Amino acid sequence: MSTSSLLKSEVFGLFDHEDEVLRRAACFLDEHPEDLPGLQATARDLFQAFQQSAREQKRLMRAGDRQQEQLRMIGQELREKSILLEEQTRHLRILNTELAHEVETRKTLEVELRILATTDPLTGAYNRRRLLELGEYECLREARNRRGMSLLALDIDHFKRVNDSHGHGVGDETLVRFVQACSSCLRAMDTLGRSGGEEFAVLLPETVLADASEVAERMRGAVERCVMNAALDTFRVTVSIGVAQLREGESFEALMARADLLLYGAKDAGRNRVHAGQ
Ligand code: GH3
Ligand code: MG
Ligand code: MG
Repeated sequence: MSTSSLLKSEVFGLFDHEDEVLRRAACFLDEHPEDLPGLQATARDLFQAFQQSAREQKRLMRAGDRQQEQLRMIGQELREKSILLEEQTRHLRILNTELAHEVETRKTLEVELRILATTDPLTGAYNRRRLLELGEYECLREARNRRGMSLLALDIDHFKRVNDSHGHGVGDETLVRFVQACSSCLRAMDTLGRSGGEEFAVLLPETVLADASEVAERMRGAVERCVMNAALDTFRVTVSIGVAQLREGESFEALMARADLLLYGAKDAGRNRVHAGQ
């Protein structure tokens, strides 16, 4: 076989051609050691095969390098993205915790605001506004149920003297103890509100005048028995109470005015007493 035909043979693998050239060159050298032109042609074939092999190897190495570089860059990009993602997840978790905390704070604030809007901060009794709201609501209920609804108007006797003798702080403490004493006489459905400075009112749903008078009397007694503490001694206070039952078609405001009139009657009659009226 001529040496030029070596190059024309089919190449199956990456270096099959070069291998074939080498194999044939070895054969030729063994079989024709004297054939100079043949040797030259063989050397040319070897040179060309070597050149082609070198080119191919360089091309493959460059392609391999490029691919490795691309893989390295993709890896780097993925690592950066993963770090960024972790950072974002951490940040979101913190935001989520803060949000949950904020929601809790707002809920607590809402409850506190509602308490502030409806109760007297000193005694914890309902404030005048809430007392009026609840009173009007109970009047509507009574118009339907007709089970009797009564109102007590209370005013601490000579309360000014408490402040004058023991100071405003003890006066405040007395108001708190007074509310505690009154509350101990009430059912869950009853409402105690502070209508003014040392004036209070109690809503008694489903309670007729006679029963309301009994409640008022119990309350008067509880207040009278309650011992108040001053810096150096103890003292007691008394309360005057007016009791009225809601009349048919009467407004809550009118009921309050009647209970107040009865209260003034109790004051005029000597204080520390209950005055009830139809
Ligand atoms: P009366 O038996 O006629 O009701 O006499 P009183 O002294 O209780 O009534 P008066 O209206 O003369 O005085 C009420 C006093 O209540 C005057 C006021 O300073 C005091 N007072 C009102 N609100 C508060 C409060 O929140 N704390 C304290 N310490 N005193 C208060
Ligand atoms: Mg008063
Ligand atoms: Mg008073």
